[in-house]
Amino acid sequence: MSIELASVVIVPGFPARHGFSTTAMGSMGLTGSPDPKSVLERRQRLAAEVGFDLNLALFAVQVHSASVKTFSRTHPQGAQSVLDTDALGTDLPGQALVTYHADCFPVLFADQRRGVVAAAHAGWRGSLKGVVSQTVQALHLTFGTDPQDLEVLIGPGICGRCYEVGAEVAQPLSAQYGRSERYLAQDAGGRPRLDLAALTRLQLEDAGVPSARIRAAGWCTKEDDRWFSHRAGRPGRFLAAIVAP
Ligand SMILES: [Zn+2]
Repeated sequence: MSIELASVVIVPGFPARHGFSTTAMGSMGLTGSPDPKSVLERRQRLAAEVGFDLNLALFAVQVHSASVKTFSRTHPQGAQSVLDTDALGTDLPGQALVTYHADCFPVLFADQRRGVVAAAHAGWRGSLKGVVSQTVQALHLTFGTDPQDLEVLIGPGICGRCYEVGAEVAQPLSAQYGRSERYLAQDAGGRPRLDLAALTRLQLEDAGVPSARIRAAGWCTKEDDRWFSHRAGRPGRFLAAIVAP
């Protein structure tokens, strides 16, 4: 399923250049880092492995929202960091989009027909607000992307067996999206467990992305020590990167 290239993981067959950094590469978060210079060197290694220019990359500074920002060929303004957004989209050739993760999921989008890519960060808060649906909508409005043309990759994140949540999470999700049997289960103690990847898939299907075009990598950040994870006590951040063709 995956190929490991010097601590960057890619999913063969996904139709856009992309990669996920692993714990072997080290934490990618600058906030609170004792050694910011090493973080910047690691980001440079990731850029070299995936194949993009770090100086032109857009980094989402995420706030668990459903806010999407897009950068088009006709209005290519942008900076290295994009504040207060949880999803980025672009059709600028060679433009890299980067998101930060621990247990929340990276979701990568590719519209080969129009040369469009996007990256979203989806935890329970952003999913409640519909961040992946908003991303599909933003790509449609900005670039004319037909949801039926999208290929979507759900990257590493906490799985449905490991993600125990409270009623304050489970209740609003099932109230908003229904069909809770697809993404909520109860453990032996009667506590809810949330399968965020399954919820993401449901939201993508509702937004018009064909089921066959949605693939989930299936790597659990808590169970698999390649990934940083709050719940597993592996503090740090990994990056997801995707590059427009
Ligand atoms: Zn798990």
